[in-house]
Amino acid sequence: MDILRNIKEYAKQNRMAINCDGEKLTYKELDKLSDKVASYFIKEYSNDKSPIVICGNKENLILVLMMGALKSGRAYIPLDVTFPVERVKQVIEEVNAKIVINLTDGDLEFDGVHTKESIEDIIIKYNGLDVSEEYWVKDDENAYILFTSGSTGKPKGVQISSDNLDSFNNWFGKYMKLNDDEEVIMNQVSYSFDVSVIPIYIGLIYGKTLNSLSKKTLEDFKSLFNNLKESKIKTWVSTPALAEMCIRDNTFNKDLMPELNTLFFAGEVLSKKLIKELMDRFPGVRIINGYGPTEGTVLLSAIDVTVQMIEDKRGIPIGYPIEGGILKIVDEKGNILKDGEKGELLALGASISKGYFNNEETTKKVFFEEEVEGKVIKGYKTGDLAYYENGILYYCGRKDFQIKLNGFRIELEDIENNLRRVSNVNNCVVFPAYKDEKISHLVSFVTLNKDNELSSLKNSILIKDELKKYIPSYMIPRNMKVIKEFPININGKIDRKKLMEEIK
Ligand code: AMP
Repeated sequence: MDILRNIKEYAKQNRMAINCDGEKLTYKELDKLSDKVASYFIKEYSNDKSPIVICGNKENLILVLMMGALKSGRAYIPLDVTFPVERVKQVIEEVNAKIVINLTDGDLEFDGVHTKESIEDIIIKYNGLDVSEEYWVKDDENAYILFTSGSTGKPKGVQISSDNLDSFNNWFGKYMKLNDDEEVIMNQVSYSFDVSVIPIYIGLIYGKTLNSLSKKTLEDFKSLFNNLKESKIKTWVSTPALAEMCIRDNTFNKDLMPELNTLFFAGEVLSKKLIKELMDRFPGVRIINGYGPTEGTVLLSAIDVTVQMIEDKRGIPIGYPIEGGILKIVDEKGNILKDGEKGELLALGASISKGYFNNEETTKKVFFEEEVEGKVIKGYKTGDLAYYENGILYYCGRKDFQIKLNGFRIELEDIENNLRRVSNVNNCVVFPAYKDEKISHLVSFVTLNKDNELSSLKNSILIKDELKKYIPSYMIPRNMKVIKEFPININGKIDRKKLMEEIK
């Protein structure tokens, strides 16, 4: 894998690989420490290649463990500290993990779970060992598995292989026009979400220093801005949600981050309002809009944003397809549509995942194979609606109940199915509420099993408290209304339209 090979090359120089809240790790340390943990995985778990679950936030040790997993020929599964223990356990069971590393304070009750201390002991014990390339993850073997919200209420594990990553890295590195100069790239997005693959892979392949922003730093505006000021970040990588939060502060400008020359966004709609503001505050900075689902290895298309795009009556485009990939727009019968015609976006190419881990049924629904010029290639039905205009793609929303809230991908049915697990909940519906054409929060309507004579507010507090055990906090609806019964439409179904009118 290029990432492991290049880390070894940069390790020969005195280069900084990561800086998280002042804690630093050089390329040399990253290389040596990951060799040590890889040696341990290979020796102690020689007969088992199941993926390695890593729970934590942005600790430097996580990158050591990820690289160690890859060097030992195993995939890693990063689970963010915000995931409730119940959801972590679901994932561990699903993948039948034998190696679980927990850097959080939560108790996982998993036999032999590793902690920071036990990993540090391993690092001392496995001194001076180098893992040869033949052990490394290669070709179609999984490099990582990311669990995304699933409509059944159970997260789906998207499997990404070494080949998938090569396809993405080769295209995107060139698109970004990166060389191996020592510079700083922002590492903000949680490792559980695929935009974080950009700083990890593109960053480490090109010898950059990852400026990791921990949850603690992100939660405190003053710490965040101090960090940005000190960071010397040249390449910004985030969802638009973080930049939208930052521009609320007038000091978010070129004076705060004088080295910044590229702002890269992906994961949700990039608004013209945000772009205008950023162009004013960071004159001359390159702004890129990237688009793609986790299933397509981070990105399927990208485009440099121009002033003309802001003036155009269409939305900001999501760009030109990845090199070597095919993105086509089809109608409900699968016919390819002409320029300007809206339909579902299907993606084909070497960056498309082999499917969801241990979930053939859902895999079959959205993944397919097609013969192109005598070669069978993988395809994925994105569920996104889009159209082409002169070779450029424009995004126009979803076909289903998947949404993005503050950059997080959420299936509304995932919340509903988990709400129904709450002891006194009989039935429920969850809706997004909009402000300035953007989803601002979630609203849910709930009916109870037993009328307990508590107020709607008190019930909603109790329900939210129990719901926290099943889903991460970003998925908990902010507004919850307890009602006696749902309005029914003429088809005998819950009248969602009527309920939605109530939240306008
Ligand atoms: P995720 O798997 O979390 O990366 O989410 C993928 C989904 O986010 C896509 O299928 C789109 O619906 C949405 N998305 C990603 N990037 C963009 C973008 N630049 N503009 C609009 N929607 C986006």
